Amino acid sequence: MPQSAQRYLWIDGRFVPSRDDQFFKTINPATGTVLAEVARGGGGDIDAAVAAARAAIPAWRALSGVERGRILHRLSMLVREHRDELAALEMRDGGKPIAETPEADVDSGADCLEYFAGQASSIQGEYQEVDGGFFYTRPEPLGVVGAIGAWNYPLQIACWKAAPALAAGNTFVFKPSELTPLSALRLAELAQEAGVPAGVFNVVPGFGEAGQALSTHPGVDKISLTGGADTGKRVMADAAGTLKEVSLELGGKSPLVIFEDADLDNAVSGALLANFFTQGEICTNGTRVFVHESVRTAFLDKLVERVERLVIGDPAEPETDVGPMISPEHGRQVLEYIEAGKQSGARLVTGGERVTVAGCEHGVFVAPTVFDGCRDDMQIVREEIFGPVMSVLSFTDEDEVVARANNTEFGLAAGVFTRDLERAHRVIGALEAGICWINHYNITPIEMPFGGIKGSGIGKENSRRALSHYTRIKSVFVARGAVDAPY
Ligand code: NDP
Repeated sequence: MPQSAQRYLWIDGRFVPSRDDQFFKTINPATGTVLAEVARGGGGDIDAAVAAARAAIPAWRALSGVERGRILHRLSMLVREHRDELAALEMRDGGKPIAETPEADVDSGADCLEYFAGQASSIQGEYQEVDGGFFYTRPEPLGVVGAIGAWNYPLQIACWKAAPALAAGNTFVFKPSELTPLSALRLAELAQEAGVPAGVFNVVPGFGEAGQALSTHPGVDKISLTGGADTGKRVMADAAGTLKEVSLELGGKSPLVIFEDADLDNAVSGALLANFFTQGEICTNGTRVFVHESVRTAFLDKLVERVERLVIGDPAEPETDVGPMISPEHGRQVLEYIEAGKQSGARLVTGGERVTVAGCEHGVFVAPTVFDGCRDDMQIVREEIFGPVMSVLSFTDEDEVVARANNTEFGLAAGVFTRDLERAHRVIGALEAGICWINHYNITPIEMPFGGIKGSGIGKENSRRALSHYTRIKSVFVARGAVDAPY
């Protein structure tokens, strides 16, 4: 059995060591404390997990949607019961402020489980009369879903992928990010407690090689990744070998457009939500903030006043707004981007430096940073930084700002602040993005489809739409009358 500071793989309803008995450390990014030594899954472990998941298919599929929904509902209740524990786990493993994790991580995961618990009994086909008879369609589960997660919302990502997959009757193998493996392992235990049968929900922590073993595996019917754009392309290429279905939730460099008639206080709130929640480590962030030239100074004055009130500190402290970057390495990359911003001539308005936090000297804390006077060709404006760095760009004309907002390889999200409803809908219609907000930013109700276009991904999570990515349609023609063969 594992010692208290060790975590094993979760395969077929129990903790098991990895085949080659390798471990990796998972670290609190604020303090550097080793939280656990985690078994490092490899190809052989993915084989074992996929075999368990395949073996579990008949029994899981045999349950009615109502029965599967009941189990998922119990799991959502257990996640809520363990809210404090899971929120603290996410805070320690990912460095996210404890002020955020109960709602943004735990409640969001539980909401998703609850939503798909309800949907499990409502997966429907269609029926149509046609020449010579009628046809109907049967939405059927795909089989084994392989899922690979990023480190910024580990529990939420596990729930967002597992809930629709399980509701639709699939079994599941999850490879969490090696930086944040703990909450998915805990979720697996809770799933068992809720009544999820052994083999239906498996978790294999490990590195990229474990993810690749999943995406290339012939026993996996679908792969769903949340990660960077380059990883997405590799996963899609790997999945092509066995012609799997693929869903990709990738990175972004999203625009937030603030028109001259916007409620500026709301626009500033939106810009804060779009840049500094989870210390900027959010894929949908609106990091290119286009502000109409006539209100730019007023916007910046209000913005800076509020940014400088944000509390940078130990994520365990309830008043902390901004925690450490996920790792010192990632923190250094964010600081390099800030340096590149300064070098390229952007005007640093606030932040722009590393902050030392007493008791958390290991962590790389980056002060919320705002650059003004940015140009579209600057590196900080073109590339995803995944840290608390906002670029403010000026514009004067609607067509101009739409063209500039769309001038990116990405298409994850976009936001518009204006009081002119006609303009709001016209601009949103012209923006190339999968998730859009009018007069708000970064809220993701579970009922709303979530996913990017262009270089930001393929497919949608959440909403009834997600179920279509976890089922395949069988068409059945039923003849009426004799068969009129020409032979
Ligand atoms: P990565 O792309 O580096 O990693 C994502 C996951 O893929 C990790 O579990 C990683 O394992 C695994 N992986 C790495 N290489 C391979 C491979 N060749 N085959 C299969 N799996 C592999 O992303 P990060 O974890 O750094 O997360 C940040 C990125 O995720 C950002 O670009 C962000 O925009 C994006 N993201 C997108 C979201 C969305 O919904 N659109 C939401 C959240 C984040 P390991 O950890 O061991 O490297």
